[in-house]
Amino acid sequence: MVRISVLDPNDPILHPLRLGANQFPGAWAYTMPRELRGLKMPDERRATCMNCPKACYEDYRPDYRCCTYHPRIPNYLIGLSMLGAGGDTAIDAVMARGLLLPEGMHHAPGQWYDYLDDLENESFGQSTKVLCPMLDESNGYCRAHAFRNSVCSTFFCIKDHGTPGDDFWGQIQTLGTQVEMSLSQWALRAVGFDLDTYFKTFTRLAAEIKDVSSVTGWKSYVLDQLWGSWKGREKELMRECGLLASENRDDLWEIANSFEIKESAKFNIAMITAVPDHLKGQVDPEDLEEDEDAEAAKPKDIWKSCIKAYEKLWDLPQGHYIMSGRADIVPNHGIDKESLYHEDKPYSIRVYTRKGSKTLDWRMFINQAEFEVLQLFVGDGRNLDWTLLMHPTLKALGRGKEFVAEMLKQKVLVRESLH
Ligand code: SF4
Ligand code: SF4
Repeated sequence: MVRISVLDPNDPILHPLRLGANQFPGAWAYTMPRELRGLKMPDERRATCMNCPKACYEDYRPDYRCCTYHPRIPNYLIGLSMLGAGGDTAIDAVMARGLLLPEGMHHAPGQWYDYLDDLENESFGQSTKVLCPMLDESNGYCRAHAFRNSVCSTFFCIKDHGTPGDDFWGQIQTLGTQVEMSLSQWALRAVGFDLDTYFKTFTRLAAEIKDVSSVTGWKSYVLDQLWGSWKGREKELMRECGLLASENRDDLWEIANSFEIKESAKFNIAMITAVPDHLKGQVDPEDLEEDEDAEAAKPKDIWKSCIKAYEKLWDLPQGHYIMSGRADIVPNHGIDKESLYHEDKPYSIRVYTRKGSKTLDWRMFINQAEFEVLQLFVGDGRNLDWTLLMHPTLKALGRGKEFVAEMLKQKVLVRESLH
């Protein structure tokens, strides 16, 4: 029986969740640990997607940018997207590319090899064959913005917080991916989908791995077998999974931690083994050691690693710090596309490849209050101690301590002895 959507259009599960300066899927308010919302998330200000620096100054295609990728989007998020303002537009695009499985959007082996080919040819961002169907070509926006998967939600091509920021987002991404896998399988089982037969079918298909995909995704005979009695009712299944997630929203974190994830290790290994010879260098040999009986990591254990990475992110080490000789602060004269985009920021930090060099490594636009904080380190520099934390200039910025931590991680501020 098809259920009628009961979701209020203003339901937060249908809208992006703002944490700090960045937006995440609304479902994260329920699927991720509650403590996540209390964390000071790192702002990622340089990955300005709708004025993409990789497309403006490098060679990414301006329409798709980094969306030359097929993310694995779980069924319940696709189902929720159908219940939101976009309706069936997103799922129709996914089905047209032969990318829809009961677990959600999932590339066929041939589509994965195309992606490896792009990596091999260093054409990620310029691909003509791996284009996410969620991207609306008419305006460059993601149709699944409020329903993106964990990889898309935590991908920032430029990390404002250096390696510690990279580590933090990497852990959050792993956590989100594990939760998504768990909940997508739980949703299938809960709506009565035969998950055991589904994985047995994958195991059987391992023997014919080279035949399962075409240029348009999974072959239809494969889809017939994987969808079983749900074939022809794909949208209904996605929608049911979305509704189920919504109805059980208060328990999703606990469910994700108690559900046993299944996989067909034989199919996964067959897919890696069949990678064309010229692309084998793109595959991690350890992926071939997948164990059918190995237990997947529990989200609550991955969360502990997230917290460790978080603590490193905001750590203020002791010592005397000054502006790096590689860094300079100049007024924003608004002379190019990027500086015009940031015209509300009166300065830019320019960091060169080395001291005395004129080759720019990167730049970042800053506001007046951030400029004032950096001025504290010009000349004799400062100790990172309680007097700094209480300084009115830091207080005026609001997130002054976090801004100093960010500048340390980016090596704009350096310990005096290292200068
Ligand atoms: S994350 Fe992607 S779209 Fe956003 S700025 Fe980076 S390359 Fe561009
Ligand atoms: S889901 Fe959205 S953000 Fe992710 S690759 Fe597709 S278009 Fe880009």
